[in-house]
Amino acid sequence: MKVKFITLGCKVNQYETQALIEDCVKEGFHITQDKADIYVINTCAVTHRAEIKSKEVIVRVKKENPQAKIVVCGCMVNSNKELLSNLDVDYLIPQNIKYNLVDIITNREIKKRSVWDLKISGFFNQRAFVKIQDGCDYNCSFCEIPSIRGRSESRKKEEIIAEVKRLSYNYREIVICGVNLGLYGKDLGNNHNLVNLIEEILEVDNLGRLRLSSLEPSLVGDDLLRLFVHPKLCPHIHLPFQTGDDRVLKFMNKRENVSLYYRVVDNVRKINPDIAISCDIMVGFPYEDEDSFKNTLEFLKKVKPMRIHIFTFSPRPHTPFANYNINNYRIIKERQDILKRLADEFAQAYKQKFLNQRLEMIAENKDDGYVCGYTSNYIKVWVKGKLRVGEVYPIVIEKIEPLRVIARI
Ligand code: SF4
Repeated sequence: MKVKFITLGCKVNQYETQALIEDCVKEGFHITQDKADIYVINTCAVTHRAEIKSKEVIVRVKKENPQAKIVVCGCMVNSNKELLSNLDVDYLIPQNIKYNLVDIITNREIKKRSVWDLKISGFFNQRAFVKIQDGCDYNCSFCEIPSIRGRSESRKKEEIIAEVKRLSYNYREIVICGVNLGLYGKDLGNNHNLVNLIEEILEVDNLGRLRLSSLEPSLVGDDLLRLFVHPKLCPHIHLPFQTGDDRVLKFMNKRENVSLYYRVVDNVRKINPDIAISCDIMVGFPYEDEDSFKNTLEFLKKVKPMRIHIFTFSPRPHTPFANYNINNYRIIKERQDILKRLADEFAQAYKQKFLNQRLEMIAENKDDGYVCGYTSNYIKVWVKGKLRVGEVYPIVIEKIEPLRVIARI
């Protein structure tokens, strides 16, 4: 039987797809990127737009493959089961039994499994993700993830180290990911925490480089920042600020204020002034007004992040704003455009700092006669030449174009 996986959403979801792929292979299923007998769509529900995209994929796959079995899993099954039930798919698998997918599609009795029974030995990308934590104890007012993935749960350290060792034979970059990474270890007690875990991962012999995924600023302490002097820890930190305004932060029920944001940014730049700081900014949150948006722009102009992921607010089920009516789309679009222009300006300025500098890239994929991939400080570069995908190459940045950074070996 041929199975094709289609994944939407975050690194955790992509990791879970890889683990489910490996589960299917163990069962004798054949994984394909072409026509299949079974389609597994691993959905995302972080925003309304993500749900629309998930639904569009399901409808398209069903229309193009009327004979095939359609299996839908992922956060949207918990967040919007009603809508999915009307799409006439074969299986709807909620998050809490996602890891029983193989039992379910083979109509076997569902064996008791834990979220941590999902493990990987390979990855469908050249930079391998390792999931270390799931769920969240925070309660940001715009977010339904805690209601879908539950409270924070940490994976056993030994399991993580074993997986990093396994993957590091073939993958030159490991990205550790979670729903709220900084909460790692809090439920394990006994001195388990993210800092100790990272220190141990950095000791893994054949580790290439290690990248951290998103970190709540309130969980970024000096002991974590000190680790950024380590040559194998990518000089890149992703901070989901969401806004630069204290009043809006309060209504978002975030655990930070803007002065804490500045403190974290200052402290991380004391460790490495050229570190890559990327962030999430949400536009259109119910309590956002002209003044608070101005404060966010002021904040960003001081921080100058090298990459800004811009999200537009959308009412999420199981949150205080579930029934909120958005009525200022034009203003939201204007603010989004302003943020986009600012983000492009900061991105170009950051890349410019590394012109003619020597960096290292991991060759990831081919594009228009070039091979492209990321440097450790998260700059995507394009290089002409016969590069082996997956390998690390020393490069020099030669040219910063509006949409590409050209480098040479
Ligand atoms: S930290 Fe906030 S935004 Fe992130 S998953 Fe938890 S509740 Fe959602």
